[in-house]
Amino acid sequence: MLKSLQEEFLQKNTQVIVVDQEAKVLDTTNTLMRVKKDTLLTDYHPFFYSITSLFDQEKASHYFYCVQIEVLSKQCFFDIRVHIDPKKAEAVLFIIDLTDHYKSVHQIKQVRNESIIDFNMAQELNNQLEVQRGFKNKFLANVSHEIRTPLNSILGFINVLQGTALNREQLDLVNIIKSSSQNLTAIVDDLLDISKIEAGRLEIKNKRFDFREYLDRLSATYALQAEEKRLEFTVEIGEKIPKFLVIDHLRINQILVNLLDNAIKYSHKGRVTLKVFTQSRNLRKIPLTIEVIDQGIGIDQEHISTIFDSFTQIEKQGLFGGSGLGLSIVKQLTELMGGQITVESTKDKGSTFRFTLDVGVSHDQKRKKIEKRKTAIEPVAKTDRKRILLGEDVEVNQLLLLKLFADRKEYSLDIAKNGEQVLKFLDNYHYDLILMDLTMPIMDGFDTAARIRSHSNKRINKLPIIALTARRSDEDREACKEVGMNAYLTKPLDEDLLFGTIQKQINKYKRKKDTD
Ligand code: ADP
Repeated sequence: MLKSLQEEFLQKNTQVIVVDQEAKVLDTTNTLMRVKKDTLLTDYHPFFYSITSLFDQEKASHYFYCVQIEVLSKQCFFDIRVHIDPKKAEAVLFIIDLTDHYKSVHQIKQVRNESIIDFNMAQELNNQLEVQRGFKNKFLANVSHEIRTPLNSILGFINVLQGTALNREQLDLVNIIKSSSQNLTAIVDDLLDISKIEAGRLEIKNKRFDFREYLDRLSATYALQAEEKRLEFTVEIGEKIPKFLVIDHLRINQILVNLLDNAIKYSHKGRVTLKVFTQSRNLRKIPLTIEVIDQGIGIDQEHISTIFDSFTQIEKQGLFGGSGLGLSIVKQLTELMGGQITVESTKDKGSTFRFTLDVGVSHDQKRKKIEKRKTAIEPVAKTDRKRILLGEDVEVNQLLLLKLFADRKEYSLDIAKNGEQVLKFLDNYHYDLILMDLTMPIMDGFDTAARIRSHSNKRINKLPIIALTARRSDEDREACKEVGMNAYLTKPLDEDLLFGTIQKQINKYKRKKDTD
């Protein structure tokens, strides 16, 4: 039984051929390929020329792998063992058919090679995209910053101009310039946000926050805006929504403002609704669902998948205004906060934007009885003129501050052009407060502040320092705190906030000095 099986196998898969030194066939089993006795094996396939050269070699046995030979129009793969018998001047060829084996290996190899190639190509593409993305983010961040600086002085001077004696027409024109500059600032801020999010530098900062009070304020603002366009505005807040949530209130506000702005912008009739609800009454964390629903122009199905991409605007540019960045920011922010935004929309019927976030519920739902902070400007004795030192290198910014201080008789302002000068001024004159630009030549604001804090003179090292910067970055804010600055204001400077902060810091310093 075994023998017959073996024979059957050999019959099907092997052939033995005996040839002489010229490769003339002396004998053959003819099981795989039909060759005739007394013919030359080299006539069947050029591979067999190699046999003739084997007679000169010392080695008796030779093995050839994966020899590809066409037999009856079929590509076959053979392993061929050649045994040379020098005495008889004959060679015995054992031909083993391994076609199936080699074909499957070949295929696997091919597939594997292709997948390796695909993987390498994908990786290469990924690397290229990474480089491009990195370049785009850096470019956006730098350009935005470069635009922001001159924009700040434009806005600052518009504020100054608004305060001068203008006739009605001039005032209207100044207001238009102001609103365009504010729009431009908003776009630049959006660009900065996008570059930050994509570079993974935007952090979500959850803090205890009076969410219900915030929703009341938000609703009041949008009720007014809706009224201006003769739209109805309704707010539905689920009764299970707690008063205090632990949430990044800046970012949730950014999301809602973008969605509500759009709902009003892209509606000519009907109602805009803000719905806030939760299915759960968990004590620690709730899924907070927010919907912004409008009955406006809607979005056709063709465009619905792209509206969350940057710079996507369906309507012709200029018709509604905007930059096409809002929804991209909204999408990325909701994802950063662990949610996902969806939209359902029908052309000419309206749209519903919806997202759900898991948010923490503050364990303390009572308003904290903290001492009411005095944020309002406290009156200053006119006789007691406070002396302020400004460290600022850019002339136009110096001018702007001089102008702002010109009407404030309770202060006097000195200007130093860099950090080194600030230190010199401090050694020679008495000041009550320092306004410090962060980017200055020779010695920047951070180094100067650090030098002030480590100054040996007590009168100098405790002086309040307010950082002024065109950059709105959390890193800068943290760095300012670290070197001991007391407050941080971003340009364009809000006049009230500037003088409010100055006064607050001076009062704080005075109180501390009195108790020391
Ligand atoms: P934009 O600054 O142009 O409003 P967005 O990113 O906020 O940019 O929105 C992208 C586009 O999606 C808009 O230009 C508009 O065509 C469409 N869109 C957004 N919200 C709505 C909405 N509520 N109704 C209809 N279309 C909308």
